[in-house]
Amino acid sequence: TYDALGLDPWLEHVVAADRVRLMAAIRDHLSGATPRLAIDYRLQTARGAIQWIRCTGQCERDEFDNPIRLAGTHRDVSIDHEKNDSAHRAGASKGKPSRTVELICDALENGGVVPFFQPIVRLKDRKLQGLEALVRLHDKDRGIIAPREFLATAERSDLIVSLGDRVLELALRGLASARSAGKLEDDAFVSVNISSRQLLEGDLPSRIAAALQRESLPPSCLQLELTETVLISNLAFAKKTLNALRRAGIRIALDDFGAGYSSLNYLQELPIDVLKVDRRFVRQVDRNKARIAILQTIASLAEALNIPLIAEGVETETEAKTLRELGVTYAQGYLFAKPAPLSVQIALLNEADDAPSRVVQL
Ligand code: C2E
Ligand code: CA
Ligand code: CA
Repeated sequence: TYDALGLDPWLEHVVAADRVRLMAAIRDHLSGATPRLAIDYRLQTARGAIQWIRCTGQCERDEFDNPIRLAGTHRDVSIDHEKNDSAHRAGASKGKPSRTVELICDALENGGVVPFFQPIVRLKDRKLQGLEALVRLHDKDRGIIAPREFLATAERSDLIVSLGDRVLELALRGLASARSAGKLEDDAFVSVNISSRQLLEGDLPSRIAAALQRESLPPSCLQLELTETVLISNLAFAKKTLNALRRAGIRIALDDFGAGYSSLNYLQELPIDVLKVDRRFVRQVDRNKARIAILQTIASLAEALNIPLIAEGVETETEAKTLRELGVTYAQGYLFAKPAPLSVQIALLNEADDAPSRVVQL
């Protein structure tokens, strides 16, 4: 097929490490698994320089549905990455990946993706329900780097897909080893953020099923958080993928509820099992009448739909108390614990049996 598309000679110039990824993306796209092809890869130019290229597009088919042409645009991506990237401001030469792209690729290649974990607790008794995996990158010079520095860049390219896969894999591996060491109860789950771009990758359900199987974990121990940082471009396709995931026994949480692009529409259109109410409605809820009213409404909405509600970003005892009074069942926030590496978090949780609201300082 690659030959039929006239891709073979061109593929030769693709850097070996990216060729497999690129071919897999084209194959998925041709099989109809992904509606749109979008991938970043590196190309070796005749002068030996490496250039970052983004390929986006669609494959055209003839009347017998054979792929005939890859109607893609291939262009240099370094220009539109991270507007505020200083390397770019300084006039990085064309063809050089932005520093952020390099940071992400380095981390992916060298084991530098290190998810932190934050407990989700039941407010009533602060019992641990699950742990949210929050991606961090480790850089040998700069140490731990938070998502605000690299997530937007990852979202704009297909790097979010590799990054998301890695976080999922590490989160499941961590959960499996904690469970088998008897350090977490069997009903504790991990909650992994997925971006809408991952949802549009057609084989997400099978990749997740394989990841669960590798760790011999049941699907019930996985929750996926649909983050709304990017508007879902193809709602029908996202819905199909989410339905498949849910049929496989995986729970879907709608993240940042109330703060995103179209929370209510997503709630109406997509199969949602859990709501996570955004921190901006939780912060100082005890002192703000409008926030109380909003939270009360969201709590009764969740109750009417029979969907559990998790409040994010709970920092004080009075916030926790107000939330309970408003009918919120679960919570997450610095009051209970800050995100930390799994081993640290578990040590704290086990120690916290007698000191339930210890906060980890990072
Ligand atoms: P989020 O999913 O809403 O995650 C909650 C964020 O709030 C986390 O920031 C967490 O560290 C922070 N947080 C938790 N409790 C408190 C609190 O009590 N007070 C305050 N001020 N903040 C609190 P973080 O780890 O920097 O992550 C930021 C965002 O990056 C996440 O927001 C999520 O949208 C995204 N993200 C993180 N990991 C991943 C990932 O693996 N994949 C994808 N696609 N997105 C991710
Ligand atoms: Ca989240
Ligand atoms: Ca959130």
